Amino acid sequence: MSTISILYLEDSLIDLQLSLSLLRKAGIEYTVEHVETEAGYESALRKGHFDLILADYSLPQFDGLAALEIARRVRPQTPFIFVSGVIGEEVAVDSLQRGATDFVLKQRPQRLATAVRRALAEAAEKRARMAAEEERAALLDKEKARVEELAGVNQRLEQFAYAASHDLQEPVRMIKVYSQLLAKRYGDQLDEAGRQYMSFIETGATRMDNLVQDLLAYSRVTHMDRESMRAVELREVLHNLVIPLFQPALWENDAEIHVDASLPVVHGDAERLSQVFQNLISNSLKYRRRDVPPRIYISAVRQDNDWLIAVRDNGIGFEKEYGERIFGLFKRLHKGDLPGTGVGLALAKQIVEKHGGRIWADSTPGEGSTFYFTLAAPAANA
Ligand code: ADP
Repeated sequence: MSTISILYLEDSLIDLQLSLSLLRKAGIEYTVEHVETEAGYESALRKGHFDLILADYSLPQFDGLAALEIARRVRPQTPFIFVSGVIGEEVAVDSLQRGATDFVLKQRPQRLATAVRRALAEAAEKRARMAAEEERAALLDKEKARVEELAGVNQRLEQFAYAASHDLQEPVRMIKVYSQLLAKRYGDQLDEAGRQYMSFIETGATRMDNLVQDLLAYSRVTHMDRESMRAVELREVLHNLVIPLFQPALWENDAEIHVDASLPVVHGDAERLSQVFQNLISNSLKYRRRDVPPRIYISAVRQDNDWLIAVRDNGIGFEKEYGERIFGLFKRLHKGDLPGTGVGLALAKQIVEKHGGRIWADSTPGEGSTFYFTLAAPAANA
């Protein structure tokens, strides 16, 4: 143990010497500041740091409990031990309740060294615990600040994506429309190479237009507010809002969509949820196998307070390892011949997550894919 500093409040020099010699004998190295009066005690406490306070309980002009009260106020962490003449058990217990660390009777001074060692060890442990807690709190604060900063960056990025895609709509449309007009009106004045260049411009502009529209739809979802969520009958959404859009494509492809009777009422935004189904169904038709007509099954099962919705197809499928990647913005697996922007599944994910759900996929190449997502049941049903 290194040298400790003691503030000692005691009016009897003999008692002071006795206590100190006991400490020395026990191998405790110390420096001591001896005070006898209230004024001396308080000023010493205020000006200096001590490892330990020892105090007589009954002083002629100063009450031991008052000394304790001042110590707890000014130096709440410093151990405080009464070294006192006979005091009743009740008084001793009362002093402990008021914050004294220990008390040692002058009649049994041998206990002093043990009491001091224990008090110092406890104080050191408490300091270490507090330091660890402070460190933890500081780390938490830092983490919180980082999360807030990231949320800010994210929000600015979302605003940027929204503003960029919104403002790009107009010029992209102009290029698309005027390149079409140019090809129509003046196409026959161009030679073969010129007509080919025009068609590249048109294809590029159409692709850019699709991208901008998809991006805009994607960034609009980030502004979706939970106020627009209510009880939504998913079967109605599918039969009224979604399937009619695909009717021509279904006939063309000899395709069928089967909506299971299990489809529930969920808590959500009908318009947004219809976008999820639209993207999944259009993918099932786009990534169809050529050897069989497309079949799409939409069903649901209840899982605690959530519904698990499944959209299964018999299309070309994909390797399981890509199951997560396809939900990333602009991520596409079958690029070559099939049109697309790679935004559809990212949009579906964004919408499902805004609803508090999760979305994932399972697939076997050559057999088909199933896309799963969860949605909360309306509160009344939960
Ligand atoms: P896009 O269809 O515009 O390419 P999506 O984000 O909708 O973009 O889909 C990402 C990729 O996931 C697609 O490019 C495709 O490779 C794969 N994919 C999505 N749905 C299916 C499906 N039903 N069957 C097979 N592959 C799919």
